[in-house]
Amino acid sequence: MSEFNVQKSIKAQEEYCKRTGAPHFAPSSGVCWKCNKNIYNPHEKAVLDGKHYFSGITTEKAASELITGCPHCYRTYCD
Ligand SMILES: [Zn+2]
Repeated sequence: MSEFNVQKSIKAQEEYCKRTGAPHFAPSSGVCWKCNKNIYNPHEKAVLDGKHYFSGITTEKAASELITGCPHCYRTYCD
């Protein structure tokens, strides 16, 4: 079960960037300035065959991948 936790994910992404020397693109509060949703919170995208699909960055993903854009509106933070 993937976990969504805003505070933990913000920290996890900061630590990931420090560890890898990558630039920190994600908003410091986690809130996307384009769509005003928190990138570390799940938002339901679709329901297919009774299965719910969510967009959003899990704590696990925040700890293991560089975040360069919004998972909800696909706005990139790189430019
Ligand atoms: Zn967005």
